[in-house]
Amino acid sequence: MVSVPVVTWSPSVTLVPTHGCFNRCGYCSFRVDPDSAVPLSLEVAQRQLAQRPDAAEVLLLSGEEAPGSPRRGAWFDRLLQFSQLALAQGRLPHTNAGPLSAREMACLGRSNPSLGLMLEGLGPAYAPLHAHAPSKRLEVRLAQLEQAGRLGIPFTTGLLLGVGETRADRLDALVVLRDLQLRWGHLQEVILQPWRPDGTSAVALTAQEQGDLLELIAAARALLPPEVHLQTPPNLWPLEGLPAALAAGIDDLGGIDLADVINPAYPQPRVEALRAVVEASGRQLAPRTCVHRQWWPRLPHGLRRTVARVDQTLQQRWATAAC
Ligand code: SF4
Repeated sequence: MVSVPVVTWSPSVTLVPTHGCFNRCGYCSFRVDPDSAVPLSLEVAQRQLAQRPDAAEVLLLSGEEAPGSPRRGAWFDRLLQFSQLALAQGRLPHTNAGPLSAREMACLGRSNPSLGLMLEGLGPAYAPLHAHAPSKRLEVRLAQLEQAGRLGIPFTTGLLLGVGETRADRLDALVVLRDLQLRWGHLQEVILQPWRPDGTSAVALTAQEQGDLLELIAAARALLPPEVHLQTPPNLWPLEGLPAALAAGIDDLGGIDLADVINPAYPQPRVEALRAVVEASGRQLAPRTCVHRQWWPRLPHGLRRTVARVDQTLQQRWATAAC
């Protein structure tokens, strides 16, 4: 029997513990000054979760308090509190909150089946964008990816593409990720994320940009070990071009919420539309939790059982087309 290739996605809901961030990345329209930020309250978080009852993943996407800031402890406690809230509701937290100390990362790894941090990229094009973002220094990012590997935490990373980097820069970044994976085996996904301009309406990728990205996807598939899933955010990629991206090597569409808090001008496609396109390309769309099945054996015993329970509910819901 011929098996049908699977393309995965994760029904998710995003909580933003704070928009306050001590970095100032050149492309960011998400951050506010930490002194004027209003942290997300538990009550508002509960209301936001209630609006997405079928989301198995709770993405905690946060601005950052500086290491050593007197506010860092409270900031980290909120990440833990929201992670526990997700678990208490039978959902799984996945935190992406910038660089963490080894203690912080190990602590979050006990409640989060996976964590994430974009590598973003290598080469001079990123330097001016990150001139006022200490967290985005390459050595800091690489140390984080190494640290997650040492701790054995299933990890999502990725590249921000189309900021002026060269083809050679992109390939160098993929080689770095490949070597990390060969050393630690913890990279479950690499997101190939096209940078898109802000604004009130979406700016579609040009044919040239799509062509360059398709070449990169194919290069990533050839370079990275086969267990590493390749993801592109489907709201940043034209639906009619998705079959070409799948043919080049994309096999995951990431967490999909009702809206993208980073790129709010780029609406999420409806899951039914994604399913139709994926099936028309000879593949099968299937839901997943925030941690891909191959990495379950790495999880602490109790968390693994929780993941299995959440996954069972997710698959049952999908089978009855209720996602
Ligand atoms: S670290 Fe993230 S939230 Fe902070 S300024 Fe950079 S992109 Fe924005």
